[in-house]
Amino acid sequence: MKKILFVFAAILVGAFALSGCSNDSTSKVNGKETKVESKKEDHLDYDDQKGWEFESGDAQSPINIDTNKVEPMKDNGGITLDYSDIAVDEVDNGHSIQVDDTGTAVINGRNFELNQFHFHAKSEHTVNGQHYPIEAHFVNQSQDGRLAVIAVFFKEGKENAGFNTVLSNIKKGEKVNVDDEINVMSMIPANTSYYHYLGSLTTPPLSENVEWYVMENPVEVSSEQIKEFDKYYDANNRKIQKLNGRKVLEHKE
Ligand SMILES: [Zn+2]
Repeated sequence: MKKILFVFAAILVGAFALSGCSNDSTSKVNGKETKVESKKEDHLDYDDQKGWEFESGDAQSPINIDTNKVEPMKDNGGITLDYSDIAVDEVDNGHSIQVDDTGTAVINGRNFELNQFHFHAKSEHTVNGQHYPIEAHFVNQSQDGRLAVIAVFFKEGKENAGFNTVLSNIKKGEKVNVDDEINVMSMIPANTSYYHYLGSLTTPPLSENVEWYVMENPVEVSSEQIKEFDKYYDANNRKIQKLNGRKVLEHKE
């Protein structure tokens, strides 16, 4: 018993010595007391949590997708979407037009719910260095809070029915009810092959661990629709972020 107690005490003393959680320690050098400041990054000031330096991390979005460097996805990877054509509302949030909507997304066998979709011009992601005029982001969330964003490139071509409804409902600085149905699936390609990687939100707080599914096939919108969107939100795209060793996977339908 005595031996056990001694070992326990030794562990306690050791743990205390290792923790070393004061900012300064005092030591004697040549009989003189000197204050030794420990390195700042070793300690966090819990009384000043607002002052904690914000770090955006090294797995940020958007990225450039180099199609020569993508890896085939091993998972089955299929996407099944059931988005509602009846939106909750449409809001100009100052940096984009956001349509709050409901619906479900089954991505690679996991369930997500649609929260909202919004648009960027030019596209945020690039493919082999090339931008598209517009990129739509469909923001889905799982039951445990994980975000999965389905990104769709818009290229110039035929007029897009769903985007037309979105454009006709824009009211600068306002949240409006959307009375007419939005043909949401007209803004998603029929073939859902995609590029997948792990990234972040592209607006503050730039949180990471966001799953990205960037559709390979763009949908068409007319040049007039692109011009109309640009009138409101020109250049609301975050610049390309470093890949930092992340893999980009490709799922083919
Ligand atoms: Zn976005």
